[in-house]
Amino acid sequence: MDRCFDSFGEREKARLMEERKKKRKRYGGGSHGNRSSLDGSDDEQMHLPNPMVGFNLPGYRRPSVMRMLPQQAIGPPFFYYENVARTPRGVWETISRFLYDIEPEFVDSMHLSAAARKRGYIHNLPIENRSPLLPLPPKTIFEAFPHYKKWWPSWDPRRQLNCLQTTVASAKTTERIQCLLARSSNPPPPSVQKYVIDECRKWNLVWVGKNKVAPLEPNEVEYLLGFPRDHTRGVGKTERYKSLGNSFHVDTVAYHLSVLRDMFPNGVSVLSLFTGIGGGEVALHRLGIHMRAVVSVEIGEANRRILRGWWDQTQTGTLIEVADVKSLTPDIIASYVGRFGGFDLVIGGSPCNNLAGSNRHHRDGLEGEQSSLFYHYFRILDVVKSAMARM
Ligand code: SAH
Repeated sequence: MDRCFDSFGEREKARLMEERKKKRKRYGGGSHGNRSSLDGSDDEQMHLPNPMVGFNLPGYRRPSVMRMLPQQAIGPPFFYYENVARTPRGVWETISRFLYDIEPEFVDSMHLSAAARKRGYIHNLPIENRSPLLPLPPKTIFEAFPHYKKWWPSWDPRRQLNCLQTTVASAKTTERIQCLLARSSNPPPPSVQKYVIDECRKWNLVWVGKNKVAPLEPNEVEYLLGFPRDHTRGVGKTERYKSLGNSFHVDTVAYHLSVLRDMFPNGVSVLSLFTGIGGGEVALHRLGIHMRAVVSVEIGEANRRILRGWWDQTQTGTLIEVADVKSLTPDIIASYVGRFGGFDLVIGGSPCNNLAGSNRHHRDGLEGEQSSLFYHYFRILDVVKSAMARM
């Protein structure tokens, strides 16, 4: 766990580790049985539920979910943390250990959408009386995009899309498929079918003409992820795919956040870390929850522009933009806490670059250069909690 604290310096690292140990002791330590030491070398793998529907989802209810939050985890503020579900060994155990030993809620958005998205969420929100955004989103490709039926070959069995990624297939890939099919019989031999379907699955290709496949357009990805049309328009296409590929699935997050609506009839103040294109903000807005203030921390300039554009069109509250989580010192955090009377919600999903399976080169776990930014989520949340406790 050493490298991840580099940006804090050794003294700060030692202090955080000590504090976590003390806090764990205070509420009895591992609430989930036999947890290994804080060195991050544990071998246990978080159990991913099947079906991956978290504590519940519209249409899915695990019969007896009783959740007891450790005292330390109970708000204010409410907090909500997200990252990819499939990570190298031990990552979710470490994240959970830092976030007050709360059990992650693993959800595959395929149960609420036409595209898969396997994510883990750690939060201290109530899990009863959640309500989904209505109308429920389409759950199959043809419900979402009926016009693709026309060219969809009978031998392509896909009815849902895979996870929407940050990059799309090159023209070379789609051309190769087109040429191959043009040279084949109809239906093509099994080996060709298999190759084509594997490529289609890998790249989420859809049928747009005879023998012709293509990636989804950015506005189709926006739609599948629950964003308003043209949300990311105005920045380059590559940038749009990247930001969308990293973003929340709005309907899933809104389902979890829906419990806030009755609790905060006068609106919420939000500390939004790693805001991206504002999946959390869009979820709150679509739930009809007023955002009195959002302090948004996002390093990408294009993302900040997208959020600002959306905010100015849809919101009346205050938006403060900060570029880098590393720049949020305890004093600065305390001053925001004072200014907004505390935060009702601290929300964010830190970068998954070194965690996600698609990254074969730098999948070095939570201590990777990007992924270790998780520790800033914990650090900042901890400072907010302390500052609010003094209020
Ligand atoms: N939940 C977001 C996306 C999170 S992806 C959404 O709905 O869109 C992680 C985000 O963290 C990316 O947008 C990335 O640009 C941002 N990021 C990376 N390093 C950062 C840093 N040091 N400070 C703030 N944001 C950072």
